[in-house]
Amino acid sequence: MSGLAIQGFRGRLIGPSDKDYDEARALYNGMIDKRPMLIARCTDAADVVAAVNYGRENKLLLAIRGGGHSGPGLGSCDGGLVIDLSHMRSVRVDPSNRTVRVDPGCTAADLDHATHAFGLAVPLGIVGSTGVAGLTLGGGTGYLTRKYGLTIDNLLEVDMVLADGTFVTANKDQHADLFWAVRGGGGNFGVVTSFLFQAHPAKIVFAGPIFWDAKEAKKVIGAYRDFIANAPEELGLFVGLKTVPPTDPFPKEHWNKRACALIGAFNGPIEKGQALMASLLEKLPAPLFNWMGEMPWTAINSLFDPFFPKGLQWYWKGDFVKALSDEAIDVHIANALKAPTPFCLMHLYPIDGAVRRVAKDATPWIARDASWSMVIAAVSPDPKDAAALRTWGRSYWEAIHPFNLQSAYVNFMDADEADNRVQLSYGDNYKRLAAIKAKYDPNNLFRVNQNIKVQA
Ligand SMILES: Cc1cc2nc3c(=O)[nH]c(=O)nc-3n(C[C@H](O)[C@H](O)[C@H](O)COP(=O)(O)OP(=O)(O)OC[C@H]3O[C@@H](n4cnc5c(N)ncnc54)[C@H](O)[C@@H]3O)c2cc1C
Repeated sequence: MSGLAIQGFRGRLIGPSDKDYDEARALYNGMIDKRPMLIARCTDAADVVAAVNYGRENKLLLAIRGGGHSGPGLGSCDGGLVIDLSHMRSVRVDPSNRTVRVDPGCTAADLDHATHAFGLAVPLGIVGSTGVAGLTLGGGTGYLTRKYGLTIDNLLEVDMVLADGTFVTANKDQHADLFWAVRGGGGNFGVVTSFLFQAHPAKIVFAGPIFWDAKEAKKVIGAYRDFIANAPEELGLFVGLKTVPPTDPFPKEHWNKRACALIGAFNGPIEKGQALMASLLEKLPAPLFNWMGEMPWTAINSLFDPFFPKGLQWYWKGDFVKALSDEAIDVHIANALKAPTPFCLMHLYPIDGAVRRVAKDATPWIARDASWSMVIAAVSPDPKDAAALRTWGRSYWEAIHPFNLQSAYVNFMDADEADNRVQLSYGDNYKRLAAIKAKYDPNNLFRVNQNIKVQA
């Protein structure tokens, strides 16, 4: 035991003298090496209340950890207290109302597993190990987004512990201002101890990746750009620049080839998905391989998990994108070809359909008229590559950023963003966020996040 005690705390307290401290403090991104003074591993909302009160009363820097996936490691801190929710992982599905009550330590795979039994799914991201909490609080994009909106567009209610230790429920009728703010404003307003989501029918999908040699990338990205704008919303399809992973099950003759990929899921009749993709593929050269097929929803949502285990080095850059010109495509391809490792990637996730049907001021997530959310992720298993990852990610982003919007998805930002980047990304909604921050967390107790400043 750490030797410290928190009154009313029933979970585990882990400090530097504990044998499993290193394991407990390790984040998904192996590039981040934070050493908290204490990790308070909570078992329930009462533990969260006790930990928040302890952190505030002792003037500790306080971080909140859900799935621990944040690129810049915002689920932990140096020298302070980590409120670790990662062991609070239960899910309760109400099939008659198609709603799901979710604990704050759940991963996307936990939630998918629980809803799949009922033929339901909540729109989440594309990797199963990602934490539901951080993903949701930042917005949440994935294969179901075009049809059903962002994850926050499917959030009905949260339970929260506020900076003063009080416990509240926020929804459209109670603490409506707080409910507005958490739908995109991140962990700025308190610790969410429970989420209630609307789920939708999803069981068997036509899904998977298709890879082309990078020399076809211009044709593929151009055709994708024109196709997706009018494609049925049942199709969630993103385009990426990557390298064929040098591992099974990828065909050995293609290992390490620079590649362009379309990866998607059609949540509707399988034949309709097949016909839709065929109408795109007939305009394109033959791929290296086409692995789109019929599969359970849970399979596509965890397909990439084995290639991205915990502990890899990650450097992230993001931007929202309005239009993808031929010139921008050239810049993408030229920079992607210089990737220092085969794990590096660039993805463009579509922002359209149901996302556009929600007003820009209905939630803090203002970029509803963007067309894509772009992420550049520089990735390697080898810590020696850290500097090369940063150099490549940064220079790729600097080259492409002039073609993009000034704003970015807060969950794709790294720690070295310009001072005004968070403000730019919330645009006209920032002022309202700052006012709600002033009301619920005037002393900025919750500041290990993409921080909303009380003085806008
Ligand atoms: C491999 C990978 C794939 C990804 N794919 C997608 C994707 O498809 N779509 C997408 O939208 N995003 C995606 N992301 C980004 C993801 O949304 C963010 O990394 C997000 O922060 C993950 O949430 P987490 O709970 O794991 O993070 P954590 O690191 O635990 O926390 C991140 C932030 O959220 C806050 N937070 C966490 N839990 C709570 C809580 N209960 N109450 C209040 N604040 C809290 C923390 O304070 C911190 O600021 C991906 C990330 C990775 C690493």
